Amino acid sequence: MIDLHTHTTVSDGGDSPSELVSKAEAAGLSAIAVTDHDNDSGCTEAIAAGEKAGIEVVRGVEISCDVDALTEQGFTPSERPTMHLLGYFIPSTENPLSSALAELQYHRANRNKIIVDRLNELGIPVTFEEVEEEAGGPGAQIGRPHFAAVLVRHGAVPDYQTAFDEYLAKGAKAYITRKLYKPAEATELMLSAGAVPVLAHPFTLNLQFDELDRFVDSLVEAGLKGIEGYHGDLPDVEQEPYRALGRSKDLIVSGGSDYHGDMRPDRGMPGGKHNVVCPDEVLEQLRAAAKN
Ligand code: AMP
Ligand code: FE
Ligand code: FE
Ligand code: ZN
Repeated sequence: MIDLHTHTTVSDGGDSPSELVSKAEAAGLSAIAVTDHDNDSGCTEAIAAGEKAGIEVVRGVEISCDVDALTEQGFTPSERPTMHLLGYFIPSTENPLSSALAELQYHRANRNKIIVDRLNELGIPVTFEEVEEEAGGPGAQIGRPHFAAVLVRHGAVPDYQTAFDEYLAKGAKAYITRKLYKPAEATELMLSAGAVPVLAHPFTLNLQFDELDRFVDSLVEAGLKGIEGYHGDLPDVEQEPYRALGRSKDLIVSGGSDYHGDMRPDRGMPGGKHNVVCPDEVLEQLRAAAKN
């Protein structure tokens, strides 16, 4: 069994890269991909741990993209989440994608300071240090999920989702935008590094199926190589249409649990919420599509 979509404490997961590999070993997995948000730095530790445990660890990433591109194409604007693009088999040496990730991390850090200021203006005495602690200590990459956890702890909101609905979601009181790539830009960046771009959890785009079809066409034109059709968040039967869509466009149909450890305890590894596991052969398909 394999799991091609997992997160560590480097972004918003609950396990360090080594802990993640231990859990993959305990779950009997032969391979995992570490796909932290906008950051591949956990992969080095995970790959070393994987070598000891006899588990292949694929260097990956999950980049958030600006779906205003969808609006530009004439689709109705709405409160859509950002689009997520997974990248697999990133080189471990300096490459165009790694420079772009460093830049995203810089912009994210600035945004995070502004979110703290905004929350303080709103009367919530959150400190940057507290949020950093929530994310795993100094230097850790902070994401909105860490802010959500801190808001819950302060009693400012009853739960994680309310933290997003009232403060952190797009359009909410403490929402601050940050640098986001357009889907085609992120796709091209991954290709330029020899990595394999895959559209994550397509059902979260909340598009009508014909709209999704056209949107995927635009990504394929930019060089998209795969689409998730085995994501743990949706029952298996409901994902067959996404798999069919992928097959019809000669895309690799990939997937994983989107494991986040204790940060999202409902998503177990490898099957996620609905026990949907990606077939083993997908790993070789991704490897064959990579230029590294
Ligand atoms: P960031 O990358 O720091 O902007 O945070 C993005 C993460 O926040 C996503 O990967 C989700 O886990 C979470 N998120 C974003 N929007 C929402 C929302 N409306 N409700 C719940 N979680 C969200
Ligand atoms: Fe996440
Ligand atoms: Fe995602
Ligand atoms: Zn993810």
